Amino acid sequence: MINATRIAGAIEVFFVRFRPYLGYLHIVFFLYFMVLLFLPLATDAAVLGDTPLSNFALFSNYVMWGLWFPLVLLSVLFTGRSWCGLMCPMGAASEWASKSGLKKSIPWWLRSEWTPHVSFLIITVLGQTIGVREHREGMAIVFGGTLACAILFGFLYGNAEAHHGKRAWCRHTCPIGLLLGLFSRMGIVQFTPKRKVINIARYTERGVCPTMININRKDESRHCIECFKCVYPGKPTAGLKVELRKPGIEIETIREHNPNIMEVMFFFIGIGTALGGFLWLFLEQYQAFRQIIGEWALNQGWLWIGNPAPGWLVSAHPELGETFNWLDFFCISAYMILWAFGTCVVLSLTTLASAFLAGEAKAGGTLYSRFLELGYQYAPVCLVSLVIGLGAKLFPPFDVFGPQAPDIAKEVLFSLGFVWSVWLGWRLLAGQGLPPAERVLPLIPGVLGSVLAGISWWVAIFGPIVIE
Ligand code: SF4
Ligand code: SF4
Repeated sequence: MINATRIAGAIEVFFVRFRPYLGYLHIVFFLYFMVLLFLPLATDAAVLGDTPLSNFALFSNYVMWGLWFPLVLLSVLFTGRSWCGLMCPMGAASEWASKSGLKKSIPWWLRSEWTPHVSFLIITVLGQTIGVREHREGMAIVFGGTLACAILFGFLYGNAEAHHGKRAWCRHTCPIGLLLGLFSRMGIVQFTPKRKVINIARYTERGVCPTMININRKDESRHCIECFKCVYPGKPTAGLKVELRKPGIEIETIREHNPNIMEVMFFFIGIGTALGGFLWLFLEQYQAFRQIIGEWALNQGWLWIGNPAPGWLVSAHPELGETFNWLDFFCISAYMILWAFGTCVVLSLTTLASAFLAGEAKAGGTLYSRFLELGYQYAPVCLVSLVIGLGAKLFPPFDVFGPQAPDIAKEVLFSLGFVWSVWLGWRLLAGQGLPPAERVLPLIPGVLGSVLAGISWWVAIFGPIVIE
């Protein structure tokens, strides 16, 4: 029989022993990251018939979008934010910069819960307008810019009294860290205090933790980057210990793990942003939307809207017949934001209906607390939406198993996310004190929300609908 405690103990011992050498791993990843981002700019552009094995730009693109993005997102289910703590070159560079930087106190606007969400929206929309998943220049601008910000934030912010580097970027701004943090709540790994103290603040800029977790108060996974700096295997009462747990248990018991309305909003908005970022390429509806906005702008006399927008903001590839103008920039951005807003409204209403019906069935808590908890049921659907929408390049290689295999892989992934979301809804209602028979009615709006997300992903999974 598998002994989870012994496995967790072995993981602790291995990584604590390995920790002094982590810097070398970061240097290797940093150099590899530089090569993947910038070498394609100096190599030949891909031509028809090239593959990732014959052209370095395609290779680099596939590593980033076909492997790194979707697999790191999915990895949080098995290893938490190990990417952040053990491998990520941007986070490591930020921490290096903070050790020798100005160590200014982290300002309020950076500490706001809004900051990573705004950063996610900006990067995701910019990624679409600039073609980050298609063009080597776009990839260099978006990831190069993100790396520069991570280093700058590290250089500026830290804590003068702490001897350890801090990662203000990772804790407060990084859009990838935001995703990994939210979904790490569903994962099977957690770091828990050996001696928990509950009457102290969760956040501290002093101490050993680079993401400002007050380790003795730690009760949620999302900000822990698994750097192992607070793990002392030989000391029974000091620091944190690694534990393996049932997948999704932190969400099933979310009220004990500092639930946050901004996270819930992200699940709603994240699905919509991913949908908007995918669907503008496929739906006729987007072209009609662009036409209406374009005609309206011309009627206002805004002729500049037809001028090409700068290459750091949009895709500018005349040799490929793709040069976006200001109209494209505004329309793609607005279309994605509209999808995000629309999804947020629909899922807020389904969650509100669940929370209301649960209350009618005599569930515990207030309408708001039930809404907050039930909003977390969409975490799995949001995760698979982002993998299918923004990490779509993971799937084409499945065609070695047959032409239908990529679509089947997406269907299976979405179905797993769907079933998990429904299960979480069921368990959250149980946690609110409802017996099984009373959970069915409040569960229905949550299921409806996941079904609507599935219908919206129809085009992504099965391709455009052609009416003969
Ligand atoms: S939060 Fe972002 S920059 Fe920081 S380690 Fe994670 S992915 Fe890298
Ligand atoms: S809680 Fe511990 S393992 Fe997690 S990020 Fe902080 S110091 Fe690293």
